[in-house]
Amino acid sequence: MENIRLASLQNKKRTIVQVGDVKFGEDFVVIAGPCSVESEEQTLNIAHAIKEAGATMIRGGAFKPRTSPYAFQGLGLKGLKILEKAKEETGLPVVSEVLDTRDVSWMCEYIDVLQIGARNMQNFSLLKEVGKTVHPVLLKRGMYSTLAEWLNCAEYILNEGNPNVILCERGIRTFETYTRNTLDLSAVSAIKELTHLPIIVDPTHGTGRVSLISPMSLAAVASGADGLMLEVHTHPETAMSDKDQALTPKQFSKITKKVLALHSFLDNLN
Ligand code: PEP
Ligand code: MN
Repeated sequence: MENIRLASLQNKKRTIVQVGDVKFGEDFVVIAGPCSVESEEQTLNIAHAIKEAGATMIRGGAFKPRTSPYAFQGLGLKGLKILEKAKEETGLPVVSEVLDTRDVSWMCEYIDVLQIGARNMQNFSLLKEVGKTVHPVLLKRGMYSTLAEWLNCAEYILNEGNPNVILCERGIRTFETYTRNTLDLSAVSAIKELTHLPIIVDPTHGTGRVSLISPMSLAAVASGADGLMLEVHTHPETAMSDKDQALTPKQFSKITKKVLALHSFLDNLN
């Protein structure tokens, strides 16, 4: 692949991105939490429930990229402070999305991993800005992006000096309408051939359907993913964003058990 110099596997050793005690590329990482941080009570309840169920990191959007300007945009700084509290109480490191170059440096004081969402994958100014930090970056695949375009975006971050890039497959737009997106699990195996960077899978946005999250999580493990990101809500029906795809803590717990069992089974075969 042309011009993928820093991100390409070639003869380099595989990158391990360490976030607290969590090691992307070595451990199987399970990130869970609400789509949006809605309130302290909501986030802390979810944080304790996912920790209990075996999650190793918490997610939650404080700045939300919404299709409509009238939809809930997130709590901003207040949301980040809530996430900080959730980390204090559970010990789980935090990932949250950054939408704007002006927010990168101060957000690093509140969260452990900066998420670049699908809609911003090719926001080159944002990529360069997160590249100037040493904060781990979770780079989601753009919904219309090829693997080469995605890896070039990782290259932008690496080229600024930040080696801590984690990729996240979250489904792409196809002609299919039954699912929200088409989860491209072949991308996981292909990415492993092409780059040394760790890759996780987000079957929540990848399918948009609760019933498909368990089978696609297991398939993600089989495809060689280094982890999963799943949206969980204690009351999905009242969620302020993405309510149709949120798992209950009980559903999440069941999936996590199966996923970890499959992961260790496959690990023992190798
Ligand atoms: C999210 O993870 O909350 C999100 C908005 O995802 P994506 O950027 O993949 O749509
Ligand atoms: Mn969401």
